[in-house]
Amino acid sequence: MKKLSGKESRFVRNTSHVISSEIVHEAKGNSSTTAMENLEGIRMGTTVMKGKMYIHNSWSFHQLRSFIEYRAREAGIPVIVIDPHNTSRECPNCHAITRKNRSERSRFRCISCGLNGEADLIASLNIRNRAAVKQPIVAGCYF
Ligand SMILES: [Zn+2]
Repeated sequence: MKKLSGKESRFVRNTSHVISSEIVHEAKGNSSTTAMENLEGIRMGTTVMKGKMYIHNSWSFHQLRSFIEYRAREAGIPVIVIDPHNTSRECPNCHAITRKNRSERSRFRCISCGLNGEADLIASLNIRNRAAVKQPIVAGCYF
């Protein structure tokens, strides 16, 4: 078990390195900003919350976030951390917020305006929109 968990943590660490590297590389190429949800301390749903899974998930998120922040700082890319509440339930078009917008796990369908799309893509649009609001008018140090 100990050996297995070591292997798993190396896998998660390696994955965090690869993902953070790609995100910062992409942001640098587009001269853009990186935005992410502040998931620290948030309950990730009752099913994920149970037992070790939650601890594991919050730990891997913390690791990924610190890798992104470290790499972004080196590359001079701003990182904006946003409030994660309802990013998966809010419609980026009409801003209706209801859990009914997510009748299926992987799909988003707005019951107000009919916007329909892949759930992660819709959530990422909400993250982008919230980050855009949080951007300072005068460019400066984001860290
Ligand atoms: Zn809508």
